Amino acid sequence: MKKVRFFLDPMERLGHEKYSLFFPVIGSGVFLYLIDLIVVNDLINSSFSSALIIASSIVLLVYFSFRDGIRAGVITILIVVGYYFYIILTRLEPQQVQGALNTTLLLGLLYLGIGVIIGWLKQSLDKLIQKEKAATILADEERLRLKSVLEQLPVAVRIANLKEKRIEGNRKFEDLFKRKLGGDLDKEIKYIAEHEYKNGKKLNVDDLALVKSMKSKKKLLSEEIEYVRDDRKRLFLKVSAVPVFNKNRKVISVVSVLTDITEEKEQAKRKDNFISMASHELRTPITTIRLYLDLLSKRIQTYGDESFLKLIGNLIVQTERLQQLSSDLLDVSRIQTGKLHFIKQDFLLNELVAEVCSLFQQTSHNKKITVEESGPIVVTGDRFRIYQVLTNLLTNAIKYSEKDTEIIVKTRKVNENVEISVQDFGIGIDPSQRRKIFNLLYQVEDSTEKTFPGLGMGLFISREIVKQHSGKIWVDGEKGKGSTFHFTIPLGGQK
Ligand code: ADP
Repeated sequence: MKKVRFFLDPMERLGHEKYSLFFPVIGSGVFLYLIDLIVVNDLINSSFSSALIIASSIVLLVYFSFRDGIRAGVITILIVVGYYFYIILTRLEPQQVQGALNTTLLLGLLYLGIGVIIGWLKQSLDKLIQKEKAATILADEERLRLKSVLEQLPVAVRIANLKEKRIEGNRKFEDLFKRKLGGDLDKEIKYIAEHEYKNGKKLNVDDLALVKSMKSKKKLLSEEIEYVRDDRKRLFLKVSAVPVFNKNRKVISVVSVLTDITEEKEQAKRKDNFISMASHELRTPITTIRLYLDLLSKRIQTYGDESFLKLIGNLIVQTERLQQLSSDLLDVSRIQTGKLHFIKQDFLLNELVAEVCSLFQQTSHNKKITVEESGPIVVTGDRFRIYQVLTNLLTNAIKYSEKDTEIIVKTRKVNENVEISVQDFGIGIDPSQRRKIFNLLYQVEDSTEKTFPGLGMGLFISREIVKQHSGKIWVDGEKGKGSTFHFTIPLGGQK
């Protein structure tokens, strides 16, 4: 049935570019033969005969040129005109021939115009439909390829189609969220908002990475969020949302990539907990040992053997280092959990500088510590924590420079701030390392540094303290000639 329709119905053949000449020739011949039988046998009124012949010719012409294109149209016209000649030469009176030939010529030209136009239309339509089909096949292939790439990706991907208001996810997405995605975009956005949290707070629809990227037309990279799944499991995710534009810069979809970082987060939490507990646990026994050592050294001073005093002195130095280490560990853990607190008040900076420098001068006889101060300066901050920064910088200045060198500590007002700098004439720092040394546990690794003990916590803690005072910390100097560390803190009450 389908084949018969395809054979007879020109509409079915649209877009197929299958043009036959055989059927128009045979079809027109047979059709005209049948018409001729009607005419010859006087089955209709003779005045209708010419009308029937002309109407049949037009039907044949339109049908074949629309079925098989220009060439078929022209062939049909030739057959029709041939038939007209046949009638003129065999059936008309000699005096009628000239008029009939003229009419045939005119009709022939008219038929030719109609046939060519319809045939051309048919062939153009075929070409257009073919092109359209090829484009659709290409688009379908492209879509399939993209889909299979998405399915293979090891990260969860969610694609929001804004035009069709639909949202879809890949297999990894379904595995991670334990749910199927493929539905109404608005409903899904509401669903996400009910399940996503940031810093413990539920997110509003407008705060979702997907919605933000859709509205701002910008990429959002690596936002950290928490997601509570339907089975109550809490996931930590990194979300990136990227808008996709059409030619007119209109956002047509938003692609979100979700990376599961739950394991890393839990690991980091366990590590933080461990550092925090270990530093707390260390503190008590070390403080007790220190107390006993102080007691012992007093007793020996009063009653005992002087030679023990040196040994005890060494023990005290080592215990102080342990104390410093455990308190640094505790600070690092506080910084990482956001629990490093400050008690800020106005105090005299030059007094603090003098105090720290004289303390260091007493214990470091082979260094000359010079203070170049610019008179009394009141600053606002946590005195103990600023003391800690200065101590860290002076410890490093002493540690990383030779015997009998100088260390210069300067203070100067710069706009609303005070800049404090500690300069040494030691091993210096390569420019490529200047930013990195403020990172946690970072230590410069080259031959000149290897011999110095330390863990790389001091500058990290200092940077955090300065940051919490809205200040900056940086270093300059030259490798091999020394370094100068600078930091700023805000001026206090009098400004
Ligand atoms: P630590 O001294 O315990 O290793 P810090 O965080 O205080 O840790 O310092 C980090 C690194 O920066 C040090 O390991 C050292 O390589 C470099 N550094 C710090 N201060 C100086 C200095 N004054 N001169 C040269 N290098 C320094």
